Amino acid sequence: MIRVNENYLKLKASYLFVDIAKRVAAFTAAHPEKKVIRMGIGDVTCPLPPVCIKALHEAADEMAAEATFKGYGPEAGYEFLREAIAENDYRARGCQIGADEIFVSDGAKCDTANIQELFAGDIKIAVPDPVYPVYVDTNVMAGRTGENVGGRYQGFIYLNSTAENNFIPELPKEKVDLIYLCFPNNPTGAAITKAELKKWVDYAKENKSLILYDAAYEAFIRDESLPRSIYEIDGADEVAIEFRSFSKTAGFTGTRCAFTVVPKKVKAYTSSGEAVALNPLWNRRQSTKFNGVSYPIQKAAAAVYTAEGKAQVKALIDFYLENAKIIREKMTSLGFACTGGENSPYIWVRTGCESWSFFDKLLNEAAVVTTPGSGFGSCGEGFIRISAFNSRENVIEAMNRVSSVLGN
Ligand code: PLP
Repeated sequence: MIRVNENYLKLKASYLFVDIAKRVAAFTAAHPEKKVIRMGIGDVTCPLPPVCIKALHEAADEMAAEATFKGYGPEAGYEFLREAIAENDYRARGCQIGADEIFVSDGAKCDTANIQELFAGDIKIAVPDPVYPVYVDTNVMAGRTGENVGGRYQGFIYLNSTAENNFIPELPKEKVDLIYLCFPNNPTGAAITKAELKKWVDYAKENKSLILYDAAYEAFIRDESLPRSIYEIDGADEVAIEFRSFSKTAGFTGTRCAFTVVPKKVKAYTSSGEAVALNPLWNRRQSTKFNGVSYPIQKAAAAVYTAEGKAQVKALIDFYLENAKIIREKMTSLGFACTGGENSPYIWVRTGCESWSFFDKLLNEAAVVTTPGSGFGSCGEGFIRISAFNSRENVIEAMNRVSSVLGN
């Protein structure tokens, strides 16, 4: 008899986006004349930078000629891309990361989901609340938790991110083995300082724990004092794995390219306390289960690191950051406390009421769609997330409508 992985049955169905879609559909059916503006989406709206398109075309032409055709590529990525990443994202910022510590993939989603395969089943895991749900659900699937009770899985240590701690969670009181951190954060938009991040690195060193650092929104950091990589903190290359993506940096959400950094010094331990390097383990995992990102896509990603590419990407992010500023300023002027929107494409708005009631008010009275914070975890109750990924016209129109609904 084929038996099911019963851990899947513990998963609390994520009704968030389904619920949003249902409410929007009902509103549209009742008011077909109203143009709905979607400020909830975490997907980019601008096209790929021209340098990436040019590289894609050129690489497609290479695939058409016998002399330049490429079949399977290296599982961890072509050297030209791994080297460009190591040089521009790391060594240029003083982080000693080599090309053989970079693993190119088709998404930070799959990497943050798959990495847990390297760890034992009975480790203690700390996850933020609110959270990007992938970290939680993949550990539930792997059987590292108990049942979901009152919105939280038994066995996890939840790291509360609240207004009281400026959305930077405190160190856990108990010893944990694995820690998920994400900065700039989705959904709160909060960014972490070097001093705050150092506390986590020190904690990990002291407790032989590992930090999984999701820096998918790193390109939005404009404050030069903030760390763009965890490896800007001394010693982090012994205790942290970092995830990055071209999705939000260069508009690759539909094109798919990302990478994970597993420094050679990072270790995990056997039950008898023997240290095992994680770089060869991740390499083994990827070369067994993954066959690499396509050559044209890697060429397009490498184009991001040319002088022209850097300028185009900066302009792209500047555009979204200006949207974020407009949203943040408007919501603040209406009397709502906001986090994010600076160094981040997300604005986390304290609603003063239940997330869903605020969502419904904006939908029904302004035809503006946001994301209820409660969908990201219990600490998200009382907040909504507004995304800056949109056209300028839509952002201005949405804020005018919100203003006339919420203004005095
Ligand atoms: N990590 C975070 C925090 C995200 O918000 C997202 C996407 O929304 C991802 C990872 C996924 O990125 P990718 O498109 O590279 O899979």
